[in-house]
Amino acid sequence: MKRRTPHSLIDPALLEEVKAVYRDLAQRPINRGCERRTECCHFKITGETPYLTKGEALVAAKAWKATGRSKLPEKKKGSCPFLEEGSGKCFIYEGRPFGCRTHFCKAAGGPYARREVIDLIRRLEAVDLALKGEGPLALPTAIQRVLS
Ligand code: SF4
Repeated sequence: MKRRTPHSLIDPALLEEVKAVYRDLAQRPINRGCERRTECCHFKITGETPYLTKGEALVAAKAWKATGRSKLPEKKKGSCPFLEEGSGKCFIYEGRPFGCRTHFCKAAGGPYARREVIDLIRRLEAVDLALKGEGPLALPTAIQRVLS
């Protein structure tokens, strides 16, 4: 069984690199018009779940804990555990993973092409490697791994 690194031993520079990737992504001149329909946050409806590297999962889990929560809620309708059902708000918006920042629905202009962001994906993969991650995992699994 793979041993997990205690959170206190995680190099903060690695999590800063994840945030730097998010900032660099925001600078890309790729136009999308998200209307926050939150369709993409309903994995059961779209049949697609974001996959997260370990660095992304740690950043998202930290944002989740900052809301005063620890465990993930069970979502019977198959939506993202970070989605507030009533308001459609993302509880971890500032810490949301790369997939949520690059995968847009058709109405918003569609997902980014991989070639447009491949350099950023490589940087996230490098962080994953440094953190001894298991490669990209489906969002609920990736988050459970770092919360447990
Ligand atoms: S993390 Fe936020 S933006 Fe991403 S799928 Fe979940 S609720 Fe939606």
